[in-house]
Order: sequence, then structure tokens, then C-alpha cells
Amino acid sequence: MFLVPPSLPPTPKDLVDKAHILLDRKLGPSKVLHLPESCERFSRDESEAEGRVPDLVVLAETLDDIRDTLTVSVEARVPLTARGAGTGRTGGAVPVAGGIVLDTTRMNQIKEIDRGDLVAVVAPGVILKDLHAAAEREGLFYPPDPNSWETCMLGGNIAENAGGPRAFKYGVTRDYVLGLETTLMGGTTLRTGRRTVKGVAGYDMTALFVGSEGTLGVFSEITLKLIPKPETVFTLMGLFGAARDATVAVEAMIRRGVVPRCLELTDSGSLDAMRAQGVGIDASARAMLLIDLDGDMTTCERDMERVGEACDEAKAIEVLVAQDASQRDRLWAARRELSHAIRNMAKNKLAEDVVVPRSRITDLMDAVERSGQEYGVRTLAYGHAGDGNLHVNFLWDDDEDVPKVHKAIEAMMRHVIEMRGTISGEHGIGVLKIPFLPWEQSAELIAVQKGIKDQLDPLGLLNPGKIFAPGGHKAC
Ligand SMILES: Cc1cc2nc3c(=O)[nH]c(=O)nc-3n(C[C@H](O)[C@H](O)[C@H](O)COP(=O)(O)OP(=O)(O)OC[C@H]3O[C@@H](n4cnc5c(N)ncnc54)[C@H](O)[C@@H]3O)c2cc1C
Repeated sequence: MFLVPPSLPPTPKDLVDKAHILLDRKLGPSKVLHLPESCERFSRDESEAEGRVPDLVVLAETLDDIRDTLTVSVEARVPLTARGAGTGRTGGAVPVAGGIVLDTTRMNQIKEIDRGDLVAVVAPGVILKDLHAAAEREGLFYPPDPNSWETCMLGGNIAENAGGPRAFKYGVTRDYVLGLETTLMGGTTLRTGRRTVKGVAGYDMTALFVGSEGTLGVFSEITLKLIPKPETVFTLMGLFGAARDATVAVEAMIRRGVVPRCLELTDSGSLDAMRAQGVGIDASARAMLLIDLDGDMTTCERDMERVGEACDEAKAIEVLVAQDASQRDRLWAARRELSHAIRNMAKNKLAEDVVVPRSRITDLMDAVERSGQEYGVRTLAYGHAGDGNLHVNFLWDDDEDVPKVHKAIEAMMRHVIEMRGTISGEHGIGVLKIPFLPWEQSAELIAVQKGIKDQLDPLGLLNPGKIFAPGGHKAC
């Protein structure tokens, strides 16, 4: 595995000892882990970022636990990283300076599902699938669905502004966050936002916290918008002889006024990974679209017809409709496991999560192929074609190929920015994309963001080494 080593020095032992004594006193030793073997699993997430084993792990259960931990972090000058399920793809929850990890998995209460106000109020450690199920039991729907929905948690979703296959039709996490309870370094708790659809009092601080990658504050309560559950869902699979044909079909669907609930594109290499998982896909297919349509029966039937026409126009090899829920689940399970399946295809893999304007998706596929060919690196891509967001994977076996891989990634990033796209659609900057942020954003814009960070976390102790090139946390 190709790892990105920690960029900050470890936390000095005397500071850790002070924090340990203070945390034991405030929270009680049962909520504070300190043995390396207990803390080890909190040193990484689902990315290539390599962390340090945290010196201390707090298992928070209440707002007071969060407040006390953030107070101790400042008092003892020890860095702190909040953590949900650790499924992040860019190292957001990886403690690059060691210090304290604040684990929120015990804060897993769904406090309210209100059918009248169409809101849910949840603690940060609620697993997304549990919220989906609770909302659906009430005939309601929480659309954001990162493919990690069976394990990832709402606090992490808010911090990363998670997207997912349904984003094309329904938007991303940000579009559903009405209000937040957030504690700042030092222990001040803010309630931002509201419980109503409308509300424009003051700056939109909730929007600032969404997507802040655990660098501005720690969430303890989240108020979310729900919508009525769509009456029915149909899944279709379109197989194509080339990725270009699949992207032509996407354009043709949109031209016909169809906005699918999900519109997932899988290229030739990714199809091979799915076949290796035992999914039976026609051997001549070099690209696939997985399409979910939802709404009432009449709308779905009309949209299915239009999707069929669009696929015909793009010379699809065939279009299949999943006949029942189990066929649907099988297709989606294979798609969800793609990332792990691809990992088995080579010794090393780096995945980038880039977005271009939808009309440039074919150009993006070409740019990926060109970057791979130019540097002799194997690439494959899949992702959310409806919103121009592709997960591009770079695979290699020989460690000597690392410089070539970096060059191929850099070439692709430059193409993405030229196309007025963005370096990250949903995974955030974390540790791994820090070098690319100045390619997309001006020095002035980065300076404004750092100013906000300094205002809320003057000692730079909250999740140091993330988003911006590290200058070291200022306390040590
Ligand atoms: C197989 C797989 C598929 C994925 N598919 C998608 C996808 O389709 N779309 C997508 O957007 N992402 C996807 N992801 C990435 C990941 O699941 C999301 O980023 C998710 O939102 C992370 O949630 P988490 O609970 O695991 O957070 P973690 O990884 O634990 O943390 C992520 C960030 O959130 C911060 N954080 C966590 N809790 C809090 C809190 N209470 N307060 C403040 N900050 C906090 C952490 O400090 C860190 O910076 C995928 C990951 C995997 C492994």
C-alpha cells in the first residue's frame, strides 16, 4: 500500500500526560483509552493517509463529554481529531499529530423524526442506514446516500458534506442540514441554523460548518430536513460497447427531461472488477449505466420509456430492468463494493474523486485515459455520471512506478481544473489533496479560509494537518 506519512511531529509526552490526568478527572477513566493497543485502530481511515497512533481516545457519550474534551485539549495544548466511523477517503479522521481522538460512535441516538415539521434530529454517531430506515418507517425519506451508508455516520457526513448516487436528483448532505449544535475549541457550544425550511438571520454559519472536515468545531446534534418517500423505485442497467456511448446516453436522457434518482457510470476496467466479484455482465460490454428512477408509477413508466429511447440513441447493447427487489439489491451491492473490488486488482491503488461540468464528462473520461497512457499507468473510472463526479482509480504493482502515478494524477487534475471542474466532489481535501488545493483556489481565497480557521481555533489544535498545507499547530 502506498501511504502518505504524517506531516506533523508527534505530541510531546508531558502535554499528553497532562491531558490524560485532566480527562480522567472530568470524564472518568472508563471513557478514556490510553493503551497503544486500544488506540491503534483509531490511527487510520479508509484512505492512504498514514496517521500516528493517538495518545488518547475519548469515547464521548454526551455534549458535556465533547465540551470537556475540547476544553482539555486547549488547556493541555494537545491536538484533537473528531471521528465518526472512519470511512473517510482522504484522511480526515486520521490523527497526523497523534494527541486525542474524540470518538462519537456512542452518540447514536435518533432523537426525533417529526412528520409534521419534516425534520429529523440526530446525534453525530447515528449510522446513516439507521436514519434511512427510521425515516422510511414514517413514510419519509433522507436522500443523501454515500455508498458507505451501511457504516458511515451523520457527524462524518456533515463534516465531509457527503454526496452519493442520489445527488443528481436530490442534492448532497448540505441541502438537508437545517441546524447544528457545534462545540468550538475551548468548549463554547453554538446552536446554528433552525428547524424551519426558511431562515436568513445572520450569516449562514451552519453552511460554513458543513464540509469543514472536522477543522472548525465538533457536532453534537444535527437537525435534518426530510422529504416524503417516493412511491416507487425502478432500477435499470444499460450496457454499452464504449464509455463514450454511455455518456451520450446520459446526455440524451437529460435532453428528454429525465432526472434519474441515480445515474451511475462504470467503465470497462471497473466492469472487469465487477465480473471478478461474480456479477454476470455480458462480455462485450465496455461500459454500464446503473439507473434508478423514482416517483409515482405513471412518472416512472414514462421515464423508463425515455431512458430506453436515450439508450437506443446511444447504441446500447442492451437495457435490462431489474425484476424484483433482490435483483436490484444485487446490482447495487456489486456497485457499492466496487471500491474494495478494485483494491484487489493491483498491489496499490489511489482513487481521486473529481468533478467536471456534466457536459464535459466524456472529455473527463478521455483525459483520464490520456493521462494513464501518457505515463504508462493503469486507470479505471466509475461514478456519478449525472453530476459529473467520477472516482478515478490509478493502479500499480511496482513501487518504482509511484512517480509515474503522481505525474498521471497531476495531469488529470490539471485537465479537470481547465474544464472548470473541482478536485473533490465528495471526499474532501483531508491530507491527500492538500497539494492540489492551490491549483483550484487563489491564494487570497485560501487566506480567507485560514483566517476563519484561526478565528475559531487560534491554537490550530483541532484536526491539524488537514485541508491546508501544514505549518504545524501553534501550541507545540
Ligand atoms: C466504500 C466507500 C464508499 C464511499 N462512498 C462515498 C460516496 O458515495 N459519497 C461520499 O460522499 N463519500 C463516500 N465515502 C467516504 C466516506 O464514507 C464519507 O466521507 C463519510 O461522510 C465519512 O463518514 P464517517 O462517519 O466515516 O467519518 P470519519 O471518516 O470518521 O470522519 C470524516 C471527517 O469528519 C470529521 N468528523 C467526524 N465526526 C465529526 C463530528 N461529530 N463533528 C465534527 N467533525 C466530525 C472527522 O474529523 C473527519 O475530518 C465512501 C467511503 C467508502 C469506504
